Amino acid sequence: MYQKSFAILLALALAGCNSAPAREPINLVSSTAEIHHTISSEPEPAQLLSKAESESTLESSSAPESQIEPATPQVTLSSQSAPLGEALFIHASAVSEGVTAQTTLPHQPKFFLDGDGMSALLPIAYTTPVGNYQLTVSAAAQTWRFEIVVQERSFQVQQLTMDSATEEETALSAQANWEWEQKIEPLKAISTPEKYWEGTFLQPVESYSEITTEYGAIRYTNGSKVASRHSGTDYAAKAGTQVYATNHGVILFADFLQLTGNTVVIDHGFGLKSFYYHMDSLDTQAGAVVKRGDPVGKVGSTGYSTGPHLHYSLLVNNIFINPQTAIDGTAAFI
Ligand SMILES: [Zn+2]
Repeated sequence: MYQKSFAILLALALAGCNSAPAREPINLVSSTAEIHHTISSEPEPAQLLSKAESESTLESSSAPESQIEPATPQVTLSSQSAPLGEALFIHASAVSEGVTAQTTLPHQPKFFLDGDGMSALLPIAYTTPVGNYQLTVSAAAQTWRFEIVVQERSFQVQQLTMDSATEEETALSAQANWEWEQKIEPLKAISTPEKYWEGTFLQPVESYSEITTEYGAIRYTNGSKVASRHSGTDYAAKAGTQVYATNHGVILFADFLQLTGNTVVIDHGFGLKSFYYHMDSLDTQAGAVVKRGDPVGKVGSTGYSTGPHLHYSLLVNNIFINPQTAIDGTAAFI
């Protein structure tokens, strides 16, 4: 509209000069500046429209712009309180990079692209003192602050009797521990920027007689005064019982280890991994892509074990979390 009005007025100005001698270009420039001043002081065409017409014009002209306008980033935390051993889930919407978090909890979350934004797992170790912690998330030049209340959980206390020969060959063996340090510890830091898992996790054995040791159990072995902590759930089951991948992922490790026997580690993405110990045999190999329910091995009693069972753990980087809430569907990251 402006261009058209400008052209008309310019034409009128020039028409008014028809009887005058042709102007030099410098005069024309001067006239143009005057014309511009005149036009800008005139009411805009939109101001001349009725209110209804004006709104209709504005709506139709602004619609394409509102579709490409970015949404306002928001950060949500799954819960501001959780018992020891659970993992919180942080989601920043409408951002695709540069989300960072700092917390007074002993794990700094890493963010990965997830749906309409970025997400991170925030695990709470069973060794964390209960109390209040702070979480600060920064995204798109804004900051969100949360207070997290870490709640108590009661842990099973267990006296375990282990035959000394097995203990010597496994938990007390420098060679067995060195092998574990070399082959398994480096895998914990892996944080694949792809979320392989979907929905609830499967029970890892098709059937079992009982859960003999719970996640986080405080365990005294052979009368020792020093307790160890149990990193997962032990399912007592008949030797040969099928063991399944509990969710989609990639096999990071599938081999025999002196400490944990036939062992499988599955990468579920975002730093989340599942561990399977003491199997009699393996049904998978490192590098394989697995789906929830794919066979990974058979129950056995290899490594540090007193009888046929599956030891199953869930880990976020260096922190073992309660594997049961991922199976019953109440975990925050499901
Ligand atoms: Zn165990």
